[in-house]
Amino acid sequence: MSRYPFEFEHAKPFLQQAGEWIADVFYDILPEAGFEVRDEQIYMAFQLERAFAEKKTIFAEAGVGTGKTLVYLLYAICYARYTRKPAVIACADESLIEQLVKPEGDVAKLAQHLSLAIDARLGKSPDKYLCLVKLDEARGGPEYVEAYQDIHDRLPSFVNKFEAMQTFHAYGDRREYPDLNDEQWNSISWDPFQDCFVCERRHRCGQTLSREHYRQSADLIICSHDFYMEHVWTYEGRKREGQLPLLPEHSSVVFDEGHLLEAAAQKALTYRLKHSVFEQLVSRLLQNEIRESLAVLIDEAIDRSEALFDLLSRQSVAIAGSDRKHIMITERLQRDVSAFRGVIEAIEEELVFESELYTLDDYQLRIVEEHLEMIQKALGLFQQSASLICWATDSSEGLTLVIMPRAVKEVLRERVFGSNVPVVFSSATLSVDGSFDYVADSLGIGDYLSFSVDSPYDYADQMEAVAPTWPPGGAAFTDKMTAAARLLGGSDGGALVLFPSKEELQRFKASISSYSECANKRILFEGDREISHLISDFQNDEASILCAVSLWEGLDIPGPSLNKVIVWSLPYPPQDPVYMAKRQAAASPFEEVDMPYMLLRMKQGMGRLIRSRDDRGFVAILSEEIHDDSKLRERIEALLPEGVALKNV
Ligand code: SF4
Repeated sequence: MSRYPFEFEHAKPFLQQAGEWIADVFYDILPEAGFEVRDEQIYMAFQLERAFAEKKTIFAEAGVGTGKTLVYLLYAICYARYTRKPAVIACADESLIEQLVKPEGDVAKLAQHLSLAIDARLGKSPDKYLCLVKLDEARGGPEYVEAYQDIHDRLPSFVNKFEAMQTFHAYGDRREYPDLNDEQWNSISWDPFQDCFVCERRHRCGQTLSREHYRQSADLIICSHDFYMEHVWTYEGRKREGQLPLLPEHSSVVFDEGHLLEAAAQKALTYRLKHSVFEQLVSRLLQNEIRESLAVLIDEAIDRSEALFDLLSRQSVAIAGSDRKHIMITERLQRDVSAFRGVIEAIEEELVFESELYTLDDYQLRIVEEHLEMIQKALGLFQQSASLICWATDSSEGLTLVIMPRAVKEVLRERVFGSNVPVVFSSATLSVDGSFDYVADSLGIGDYLSFSVDSPYDYADQMEAVAPTWPPGGAAFTDKMTAAARLLGGSDGGALVLFPSKEELQRFKASISSYSECANKRILFEGDREISHLISDFQNDEASILCAVSLWEGLDIPGPSLNKVIVWSLPYPPQDPVYMAKRQAAASPFEEVDMPYMLLRMKQGMGRLIRSRDDRGFVAILSEEIHDDSKLRERIEALLPEGVALKNV
């Protein structure tokens, strides 16, 4: 196979030649294969050529139907081959990375019509893989034992049989277990409290083997924003520990749905602390021949950790509609944190002496030191409450303290945008009132290129927007259910129902079966099965209905399988600590935080409807507020494409 899809002349700049070939692709090769020539796509291609040639960050705002993915994929692939380093394509979430590589997806289209063998591999988050340690625990647990035993029995033979000359391959992907619901999967999948670095099974674990596989990609590594950010934040630490970074060196990065990157960056910078994990970690030291002074300190640290987490539990208040609990920070809590940090510091000093005595295994010592350092950093942040967002979550194994810094831009500026590789932000919604400064500033980007191109579709002809009404007062939920059932029952499927929260989806799910109009409908619910299987079922069964919380963005289903989008309620951000902190920092919280979030999400959600020139359909917004509040209605109407009016029905 030749390295480039065009005849390369060494005397001419590479990107100029790549640009000429890409222009041929859009003007000639794809139109010959039945694709239409799109001016917006060609304009975007010229803009990206400059960003790649100058190794700059570019905001590429392109409306639905411009075919922006094909443009950035072509540049990313050509440049990867030129630099001999893969490009990273980071999608907004894990469910979307599968969309790019599905048989009818954009990578397959390019491969087929350009006769190009594209090496595209998925870098999935560890929680999308089975954890052998947790599977063993679950097999001995109280529930679903048969299902877990079956999973165990179907593991590749090398997992449990130790023979000479074995070859290992990746396995244990969430997709391989489509029938497990999310709760069952969470019992056996990796979670942040698994210490893979010291796990005896890591060389035969599908999660670690998957990493070796995607690292070898020649063209593209496709991952989520979260995963890319995890790579950025753990890069130095992993290198210090002698581990490979999560992603190999890469030639360029594309952030698809790039307006969501800030949230992923904050999430990745988050620290999670748990008493049981701390106890387990330091108790390991007690199994060695250590000095008594260190043993006494370890016992004290375990007691202090337990007391601190008990206090945190008492100081945590549940938040309706969120699984994050608000922590009331008091002087007593701060005192306990200081005392705990003091003991950890004393242990760290003792470990320096201990390392000179060589009584502890070097490897084990390093793990404990890294972990203690992380706890010190996290609790240090906790003590400067003005610069962090924190919350607690509860599970059967105890409380987890979560600590997240407020500002991420300094770190991003240093580690992502200063790395001298082309960075493409691609989305239909990046600018606010025609300017990219808002998103650039939130991410710490000073110098950038940008452009906007509109969607080529005729929305006035293809789309309708309706706002069902129901009598004022009365039983709001029942009336809304009746309106939803009427919409769903009177149609032949093809409906995507979008919910702002899991709780609202669950409440809908519990009620819908009692509505006779929907009795014979096939309704699929997010959380019941693995998400890409659910999407595929929905796409392949035109009569089905899909109810989802996480598909406001990125879902791309052209054709009759998706001809209605029903917005269950306006998607304001949750009342959880992350948004509470944003509100606190804003001069006008509703206008600066809640409203822009809701409008952006609404625009994205409605954007799921028309995905090709032949698509026809309607968006229905089930909201009482837009009938009562004319200003709010105006803002929602402003989101609709030109020529589409919102009608009451
Ligand atoms: S390496 Fe990590 S994910 Fe794999 S079995 Fe061990 S703890 Fe679980």
